[in-house]
Amino acid sequence: NRRVLLAKRPHGAPRPDDFTVLDQERPWAGEGEVLLRNLFLSLDPYMRGRMDDGDGSYAAPYALGEPPGGGTVAEVISSDIDAFRSGDLVVANGGWQEYAVSNGSDLYALPQDMAHPSLALGILGMTGFAAWYGLTAIGAPKSGETLVVGAATGAVGAAVGQIGKILGCRVVGIAGGQRKCRHAVEVLGFGACLDHRAPRLSERLAEAAPSGVDVYFENVGGAVRAAVWPLLNVGARVPVCGLVSGYNGDLDADGNSHDLMMSLIVKRVRMEGFMVGDHYGTGFETFSQQMSGWVGAGRIHADEDIVDGLENAPEAFGGMLEGRNLGKTLVRIGNR
Ligand code: NDP
Repeated sequence: NRRVLLAKRPHGAPRPDDFTVLDQERPWAGEGEVLLRNLFLSLDPYMRGRMDDGDGSYAAPYALGEPPGGGTVAEVISSDIDAFRSGDLVVANGGWQEYAVSNGSDLYALPQDMAHPSLALGILGMTGFAAWYGLTAIGAPKSGETLVVGAATGAVGAAVGQIGKILGCRVVGIAGGQRKCRHAVEVLGFGACLDHRAPRLSERLAEAAPSGVDVYFENVGGAVRAAVWPLLNVGARVPVCGLVSGYNGDLDADGNSHDLMMSLIVKRVRMEGFMVGDHYGTGFETFSQQMSGWVGAGRIHADEDIVDGLENAPEAFGGMLEGRNLGKTLVRIGNR
């Protein structure tokens, strides 16, 4: 049973000597368990966070001296669970090892005749689903809008861009290197793709997205986000999926915003700006009725900090900014 164990916690980019490859005894499946032989292992950026010692990322840190967990497509070798028989093909959390034992709770069966079972770890599995969910439920793209996605030829990004194209978006990818960018345009059918390693990304992006950006699917963070941000249109949506540029801890000036954006993912925060002025037409009357009712009934208390005399406005204004007011600051200019 070949296994790759996490030998030490990587500093920066993971290196081969952070891992140990061992041949160990094949495990036995007991009562209510299945023995699996992993056929494919999914390698995902989130794994880097779990190799650290509890960084508040998606899930608990991987244990040292154990194989990291990870999605696999596996064949059932033997089964003591009614739902599975030997020879079945399943998606499992089999980890970085050849054989794994499962109690069945993490398994789902694949069609026996599936031509490319590995797709169940990619476009038909976790990464395809992440792309589809993030784009359709949070990005909510409309036909004719401009969609920008980074890591554009990766598992999630390639799916995002192609779904966006099906939904009628103009898709601009951002990827590392000319080869990937050509692939994004020629094979994946993106409208354009820009190399984030070449100079002047911001300028090139502004040229490629002349009507601004309506949906930015955030996979990357760092310099890519910095280039996209000024181009966001009013009402743009930003599904925050991942921040891979920071996973090795190489944050430079992006440290604070990396932490902020990461917390949006970890806590599933939906953050949305608004301008009250946009909503008078649709919301003010309802608000007004409800609020006068509450104030009239004494259920809402309205403090006012009233300063007499217009000449005292500057002082009161400065004081309000420093916190000397209690409640709504007003100047009484005259009486009726
Ligand atoms: P990819 O297949 O996209 O592989 C990672 C890619 O990241 C690399 O190929 C590289 O592409 C890009 N990358 C790495 N460093 C940088 C950098 N400094 N600047 C720009 N790009 C960089 O991985 P996935 O598709 O699996 O994941 C993409 C993102 O989606 C990740 O952030 C991941 O954490 C996130 N994710 C989130 C999920 C969720 O539930 N929220 C689920 C699945 C994935 P290039 O050469 O183009 O730069």
